[in-house]
Parts: sequence; C-alpha cells; structure tokens
Amino acid sequence: MTRFRLTALTTLTTGALLFAQDAAELPPPGMTEYWTPQPPVVSALANGVPSDAIVLFDGSNLDAWHIMRQDDEGNPQPQAANWVLEDGAMIVPPREKGSPSSDITSHQSFGDIQLHLEWRAPTPVKGDSQGRGNSGIFFMNRYEVQILDCYENETYVNGMTASVYKQQPPLANACRAPGEWQTYDIVFEAPRFSFDGTLLKKARVTVIHNGVLVHHATVLDGPTVYRGLPSYSYHSPRQPLRIQDHRDPVAFRNIWVRELNLP
Ligand code: MG
Repeated sequence: MTRFRLTALTTLTTGALLFAQDAAELPPPGMTEYWTPQPPVVSALANGVPSDAIVLFDGSNLDAWHIMRQDDEGNPQPQAANWVLEDGAMIVPPREKGSPSSDITSHQSFGDIQLHLEWRAPTPVKGDSQGRGNSGIFFMNRYEVQILDCYENETYVNGMTASVYKQQPPLANACRAPGEWQTYDIVFEAPRFSFDGTLLKKARVTVIHNGVLVHHATVLDGPTVYRGLPSYSYHSPRQPLRIQDHRDPVAFRNIWVRELNLP
C-alpha cells in the first residue's frame, strides 16, 4: 500500500469513528419532528382558484361589491355597484370631473389575506404620469397598492405601478403594455393593535406583479395619504377591500382572496 493510500484510509477510518461517536451523542431525529396540527388540504382548481378562496369577482356580476353615496342627510349609504360589466370584466364607469367617486368596496371584511386580481389599463393611451390608467387596491379600505399604466410612462417612483402609494416604490417595473391583462398576487398582513389602540406591529405587504416579485414584506408606515405623512390610528382587525375609481376606465377580472390568519 502506498503511503498516500495508507494516509487516506486512516483519515477515513478516523472520520467514521468520530461520526459514529457524534451520532451517538445527538438526540433522536424524532425530537425535532412534530405531526400535528396537519395544515388544511387546499387544492388548486382547474380555473386556478384555490379551493378555499373567496371569489369576489368571477366575471358574472358585481354582487360582492357596493359603492358609497351620501343620503339626503349627508350620511354615507351603500348602493349597488355601478361599474360596467363587459366580456367577463368589470370596468370603472365614466364620470365627470368633480362628480362623486365610484370606488367599489367589498361587502365582506378581511384581515390578513392572499389576494389575486387581474387588471388591464385602457387603450387608446390617454394622459401621462398619474393620469394614465390610474386605479388602486386599498387593503382594509385604507392601504393602497397602486394600479397605474407605467408602461413607458414615468411618474414619481413611490406612486408608480405596484408602489405602496406615496410610501415604497416596487423593486421592478413589471408593467405590460396597456390593453394587456396583468396579474397582482399580494399577501397583505394587517397591522396589529393592542386592546387600548396602541400600534403593536405595522402592516406588511408582499406583491408579485406579472410573476415578478416587486415587494417582499414591505413595511407600511400607515394608511395611504395623498398629502403629508402617513401615521397609524386604531381600526378594527377586519376591514373591506376597496378598488379605486380614478376616472380612468381600468378593467378588472378574476378577483379572489384567501384568509390567512398569520401568526
Ligand atoms: Mg391610484
């Protein structure tokens, strides 16, 4: 046996002995394995909607949504959503500048959710910056992830497509051309407040735009405000979703959420 092979054999034998010795001192593998509770079984249906999803728009009706209007005493009252239903999509309706907005609000309220929605910026292209294909999805009725046509259209980056509006720009501009359908897959983690209304944990959002990660657990500094700085104030742990009417005929389809109850 050559000196090299003898050395190699000695090293291997010593290594195996050490491994056996270490293994004997380690706890059994089962110590770090647990079997309950088993996660619920969720299957992806043929149409891509998970089996436990709450469908908020499947192209057939606006039954999950309402708009708010003031009654004769000036009190806000829910009314039937007036968006245009066309070819399996719902579209922001036309309206005059200065007339009341037709943001749609979900009847149902949510806390932590996974949201899927598809949107399409209008053609022919009109306007620029914030004036082109503007809408937005407001989580808990107050935290906006921007919808905007930023395909070859620059604006302030913390107001561009998939920004946390006026707070955080996206990691990438994943916009498709206007007229093409685009997807948002979003995980929204609601803020946590103590019983006396103190903020315990800020809201977080993860956004995938057309398959591209554009936010990863981005921390929100508070509800969306157009002017000034955001700051939190207490709200109940479940609030509705709202989609913005910014007077551009943005179309939506295939909207569903999964309730998450994150730790
Ligand atoms: Mg907007």
